[in-house]
Amino acid sequence: MSLTNKILLGMMLGTITGLLFNIFFVDDQHQIQTTSGQWFQVFVFDGLFDAIGKIFIASLKMLVVPLVFVSLVCGAAALGGQSRMGALAGKTLGLYLCCTTFAVALSITCAILIQPGANVDIATASNFTAPEIPSIKDTLIDIVPSNPLQSMVDANMLQIIIFSLLFGFAISRVGGDAASNMIVFFNNLNDVIIKMVMMLMQLAPYGVFCLLAKLFASLGFGVIADLAKYFFTVVLVLFLHGIGFYGALIKMLSGLSPLVFFKKMQKVMLFAFSTASSNATIPITLRTVEHDLGVDNKVASFSIPLGATVNMDGTAIMQGVATVFIAQAYNIDIGIAGYLMVILTATLASIGTAGVPGVGLITLTMVLQSVGLPVEGIALIIGVDRLLDMIRTGVNVAGDAVVAVIVAKSEKMLDIARYNNESLNAENQPV
Ligand code: ASP
Repeated sequence: MSLTNKILLGMMLGTITGLLFNIFFVDDQHQIQTTSGQWFQVFVFDGLFDAIGKIFIASLKMLVVPLVFVSLVCGAAALGGQSRMGALAGKTLGLYLCCTTFAVALSITCAILIQPGANVDIATASNFTAPEIPSIKDTLIDIVPSNPLQSMVDANMLQIIIFSLLFGFAISRVGGDAASNMIVFFNNLNDVIIKMVMMLMQLAPYGVFCLLAKLFASLGFGVIADLAKYFFTVVLVLFLHGIGFYGALIKMLSGLSPLVFFKKMQKVMLFAFSTASSNATIPITLRTVEHDLGVDNKVASFSIPLGATVNMDGTAIMQGVATVFIAQAYNIDIGIAGYLMVILTATLASIGTAGVPGVGLITLTMVLQSVGLPVEGIALIIGVDRLLDMIRTGVNVAGDAVVAVIVAKSEKMLDIARYNNESLNAENQPV
């Protein structure tokens, strides 16, 4: 069985196990009644499954910083001589911005048509306190690291990107033996870290099983029923954008087959879904985009880690629908200017926030405040956010890969034969 299928199986079995537990042992007040139920909860779901799930996520995160640093140094060192860096960065950022803007506009339009927030009881929205959001100025200043080791300790992606780019660029400028020795060293190091990624990917089916079993044991599907209209509106827009828009974009801007793209990206999206973190998925995204889709390391090593931080179309979609939902629930009309403001702030909100679970809900505060909507409204949607977080993270990482492929194709840095070669799949390589 291929790794993708094993992960899918792990997902399904985990979901079923968790749901069965929830149905048989958890009552309507979220209490576990029987002693055997409590025993299961403590030792199996909160004990064994929780531990394995956390070890799985930690093992992925373990590789993020070394991989991004080494891979980006290789890319920048190789690019340095060609002075294509500016064009590449410009195209990548431009596409990220356009895609996110489109995502928010689409989500607002759909939400206005579907009206998920009409007739919602707002009495429950009282216990949400707004967290502190850094200003745009602070976010900009924060991009330059004052201590690169600290950036790595904090896994601050933008700071690591800046440092690695400069480091790689400097290697290319040093020239001579020093440069070629460093390049060989970093390329070898990159191979070693990629090998570690491959080894850890084999653990994924078990990790995914445990993560989902634990999640659904406490969550159940009951939460969706109360917020069905909101939930399914977000899911609908995520599908429209993640499949329709991305598929069309790949076809139109690069002439490549969207089907091949989605087939090869399947396992990356499953990783994103189960971890709900674009950051933790970086090792798998990078590996797949380079190895299976044929994107040159010079493009992938820059656009993937950058995208994990600044490009969150799925998150922006949730924010667009959530804003309309809250406006409707509170009966406040924010008008066309308000919606334009939402597009602007939701796009900006995704920049500078790390791709970690649940961050979208925090930056939603900023979006609501920008149009004067009550922040407590977030309490209305918090119940289903974990599930939506998983789905939107899949869209977030797909968006990064779409842009990497398009930019690589336009810069003649895409191996088209590799892209089209269906048998090339990182998962099938021997460890
Ligand atoms: N979990 C998302 C990500 O990592 C961010 C969010 O929407 O909360 O991409």
